Amino acid sequence: MSDKLLDGKKAIITGASRGIGREIALRFAKNGADVAFSYLHSKEKADALTKELERFGVKVLCLRSDASNYEDCKSMVEQVIQELGGVDILVNNAGITRDNLLLRMPEKDWADVLQSNLSSVFNMTQPVVKHMMKKKSGSVINIGSIVGLKGNAGQTNYSASKAGVVGFSKSLALELGSRNVRCNVIAPGFIQTEMTEKLDPSALNKWVEGIPLKRVGQAKEVADTAVFLGSELSSYISGQVINVCGGMVT
Ligand code: NAP
Repeated sequence: MSDKLLDGKKAIITGASRGIGREIALRFAKNGADVAFSYLHSKEKADALTKELERFGVKVLCLRSDASNYEDCKSMVEQVIQELGGVDILVNNAGITRDNLLLRMPEKDWADVLQSNLSSVFNMTQPVVKHMMKKKSGSVINIGSIVGLKGNAGQTNYSASKAGVVGFSKSLALELGSRNVRCNVIAPGFIQTEMTEKLDPSALNKWVEGIPLKRVGQAKEVADTAVFLGSELSSYISGQVINVCGGMVT
């Protein structure tokens, strides 16, 4: 028997050209999963990731697909099922920020964040779970944020989208438990990626002071949690939010 935690599984990860999604794709492939992943703008990075993933000897499918677009998602899922032969794990990772105080927030920034971070989860999950229900197994992993649990000034749009992801996931876990389809949320805290590079260093230092583990997190620490939730190690866990935040939320 293989000691790879995801041996023989087929996974879809949205938004894996950079950051946390990229690391999840790498850890999944290292653990034996065939990986289909999407990107939106970063074609060169996506092509480079494809090559890295192929070195693990798994099947890899790289698709330009906009997670905020329902038709794109439906056709991506159809293509993955056809080319990989199914889907066992879906990771809804794609996300954006458009930070601003509420009073200054353009309506477009509100709408874009909700569409990219929350509607994207609906867009991908609906076609995937139709397939998972038929084979009576599957794990849906949604990437939320601790900001969706505790709020953050300047992020009403982002916080609302991530709180929505929690409500969506808990409801889906209730709907699909009887079909052996699980759904959980990973809520990262402060993780070092291009998304957090935009923050001003003094704000960053203040945040770090408030983190019990006294450091920012690494994308691989989120990815390891995704491996756990995608694997049989978590077979009795559904409808939960796992905070990967260095103890920021207790
Ligand atoms: P990142 O470095 O900015 O990377 C975002 C990724 O999402 C990129 O690969 C991007 O692809 C992709 N993407 C964005 N919109 C997309 C769309 N509509 N369709 C397909 N792909 C799309 O962000 P990150 O820090 O890795 O964040 C990943 C997830 O973790 C997000 O959901 C984020 O909200 C969440 N999170 C992050 C942190 C943190 O501290 N970093 C904390 C909590 C939660 P392209 O470059 O190809 O456009």
